[in-house]
Amino acid sequence: MTGGRPHGHRKALPRMGPRIPFGDLKRQHNALQAELEAAMLRVLTSGWYILGPEVRAFEEAFAAFCTTRFCIGVANGTEALQLALAALGVGSGDEVVTVANASVYQAVTILATGARPVFVDVDEDSHTMDPAALAGAITSRTRAIMPVHLYGRMADMDAILAIAVQHGIPVVEDCDQAHGATLGGRVAGSLGVLGCFSFYPTKNLGALGDGGAVVTNDAALAEKVRRLRQYGWERKYYTSDPGGLNSRLDELQAALLAVKLPYLPAWNARRRAIAARYQERLTDTGLILPAAPVDGEHVYHLYVVRAAGRDALQARLQERGIGTEIHYPLPTHLQPVYASFAPPGGLPVTERLAREVFSLPMYPELTDDEVDAVAAAVHEAMRKSRER
Ligand SMILES: *Cc1c(COP(=O)(O)O)cnc(C)c1O
Repeated sequence: MTGGRPHGHRKALPRMGPRIPFGDLKRQHNALQAELEAAMLRVLTSGWYILGPEVRAFEEAFAAFCTTRFCIGVANGTEALQLALAALGVGSGDEVVTVANASVYQAVTILATGARPVFVDVDEDSHTMDPAALAGAITSRTRAIMPVHLYGRMADMDAILAIAVQHGIPVVEDCDQAHGATLGGRVAGSLGVLGCFSFYPTKNLGALGDGGAVVTNDAALAEKVRRLRQYGWERKYYTSDPGGLNSRLDELQAALLAVKLPYLPAWNARRRAIAARYQERLTDTGLILPAAPVDGEHVYHLYVVRAAGRDALQARLQERGIGTEIHYPLPTHLQPVYASFAPPGGLPVTERLAREVFSLPMYPELTDDEVDAVAAAVHEAMRKSRER
């Protein structure tokens, strides 16, 4: 976590502003301490720790939340993506079209299957896959499309699904930042053939460790993911599918997630209220603010704004005790290790956004006063930047 002044400086700050960390999970956990302790104790005394009643109960509850028939708990969001691709039979010689502005997770999972990532640019307003760019990237080798519902906003799924259907290519949704986001009344994870979630602690629904899930309405794919998450076993010690992983969700994490899941709708609503408050207080700053899709609910996993002089602004906010982060500083195709997958001509929108984006504090436990203090610090920092 950033926030607070740099280490090693005793000098008093020029002006003691509020100290607002970029994130603070203790606030959420303090409020739920008794319930979380009870769940931990229940697992501790049960004598059963891997793939048991807690995982089954959470899978059922999370499938209902996503309005899908099936949910398979897995070890983390990255392996959720990898297992989804593997269940579709994606492998060497195949191409998977995805974006390069959502950190490297997609590339990691696509390469793990033996396929090749094909990066396309994003739409400037939504920061999500540009459907026109997708249409231009489809080849005879394209075996899957992996849009990312970035920052809590769903990609333009109507346009993406239309292209996918036209070519008969399955869509795997990366919902790792979009638990509960909707578009046209449909819930993230229920639109593609498979939807993938992470329960990394800072996500909108987070475990106290790693966790993930794959959701789907397809019974055969659900069974396949179920087998692949555990060595490709059909039943204990009998293998039906080659490959596979050990990628199980723990009983302990499932029990903790089941405690938190009922709070998720209220937490997402609070994130939207914070976003509305930021919007109100930051409209006249010159920052480019995020917007929700016209026909859907943003869940503001992150509150990402854009500014031309981003780095100086971020430093000024840091001086004022406001924690910010950059999601993400270096697009995947510009990471030296993935340079061979960079499309000719690069990805101009992705690259411009990477230079301008930064994230303000956004978590349900932020108070209105803190939001106002962040906004006031932004105003002050912008004014200082203009004076320079
Ligand atoms: C967090 C995240 C992942 C990876 O999830 P892990 O559980 O950390 O493996 C993948 N994609 C996106 C967009 C994410 O935000």
